[in-house]
Amino acid sequence: MHYVSTRGKSERLTFADAVLTGLARDGGLLLPESIPDVGDRLEAWSTLSYVELAIEVIGLFCDLPRVDVEDLVRRSYATFDADDVVPLVPVGDGYIMELFHGPTLAFKDVALQFLGNLFEYLLEQSGQELNIVAATSGDTGSAAIQGVRGKERIRIFVMHPKGRTSRTQELQMTTVLDENVRNLAVAGTFDDCQGMLKEIFSDLEFKDAYALGAVNSINWARVLAQVVYYVYGSLRVTRERGVDAVQFTVPTGNFGNIFAGYVARRMGLPISRLVLATNENNILERFFSTGEYRLGDVVPTCSPSMDIQVASNFERYLYYRANGDTEQVCAWMESFRQNGVLRVERGPDGSIDPNIVTGCGDRQATLETIRRVYETNGYLLDPHTAVGVSVSEAFQDRDRPMICLATAHPAKFREAIAESLGEDVARHPALDALEGRPSRCEALPADAAALKRYLTFALSGAE
Ligand SMILES: *Cc1c(COP(=O)(O)O)cnc(C)c1O
Repeated sequence: MHYVSTRGKSERLTFADAVLTGLARDGGLLLPESIPDVGDRLEAWSTLSYVELAIEVIGLFCDLPRVDVEDLVRRSYATFDADDVVPLVPVGDGYIMELFHGPTLAFKDVALQFLGNLFEYLLEQSGQELNIVAATSGDTGSAAIQGVRGKERIRIFVMHPKGRTSRTQELQMTTVLDENVRNLAVAGTFDDCQGMLKEIFSDLEFKDAYALGAVNSINWARVLAQVVYYVYGSLRVTRERGVDAVQFTVPTGNFGNIFAGYVARRMGLPISRLVLATNENNILERFFSTGEYRLGDVVPTCSPSMDIQVASNFERYLYYRANGDTEQVCAWMESFRQNGVLRVERGPDGSIDPNIVTGCGDRQATLETIRRVYETNGYLLDPHTAVGVSVSEAFQDRDRPMICLATAHPAKFREAIAESLGEDVARHPALDALEGRPSRCEALPADAAALKRYLTFALSGAE
């Protein structure tokens, strides 16, 4: 399987190069040359365990030896504390799929545990090294650190905005003391951190000299690892309920998670439609209801991991939307770059996409949903999952059971839970154990030149 750019102006890449490069050289995102139709395998797949299924699905998209894929997948999900990796919990008429049983208690572990092992494996094969530089507003940083800690040939430098992540998120990062992990507390905002990252990555000479790499959500391997739970969930539930399809509700920020569902649907899985749920930062909700993708301001919410306006994976959707016409994708992206807006026509049925419906869950709806589901079903939702559950209400369908993806353990966001319920009930022993642990973190001014000096010193001293 080879990989091509959404902008059509760079050469096709192997799976290994696509994973190690992240972004295509023409600035586009990488996609498989074709998406395999798995319709004739669904019967056989429907009884596989999560890990067995992951080996099959991931194996379809890469050209690595089967035994190596098996080893990578098994090691990646052995760190999860649930036997079936992503438990499906019946709640009300539908299901919650708990994607938060990995080391950092957020769904990003599903992709980053795999990506860390994959990086290590590919670097070993090619004899290369990789220095990952990342910016995080909270969840991605700790998941990336847990993905690569202690790994050969990889170092990771994670910038977070000093004092602006939650205390728990900060401790999840800074209490990891492995030699190859460095935390940098930047005196600025998350946008400052991202700006610094962009600046050092745009200096190609610097990037090449220090073998810098990224783990952001545009990496194809992250999307691929996430396709697996849509396959698993849709096969499990259609079998259990004797129905011909399910729906998924996905709380969305960067369009990464839901795009994986879009890929699963194109592979022929029994998914009738995807429900895209946003918080007040609703650029995607506006797009799927009006066809207009227009930049807005980011406002802080109680589901902070979705406080995003420009969704970095959206270009992948546009590629399929344009039936692979890369000129059209370039025109859309250019329009968005110049004017902050791009437009897509409605289809014959009047919708923007017949298979994606959408809604927005604001602060009040989120807190009310947490309370209602706790009181009615005794189940505690984190605020991101609650955005999804609240939006899913409008799309219930007796014949198409709803699977709501749970993207974080509630204890990661206990302040929102306490505000909703009036008591601090969301706890997790792994998070409680972080207080008082030794930690390590260095301070950095919000300045790309300072980051460059820091990396130059750290990486020349390292050899
Ligand atoms: C990252 C994150 C999201 C958003 O996922 P995308 O792939 O960016 O759409 C939702 N919930 C939680 C808890 C997250 O950490």
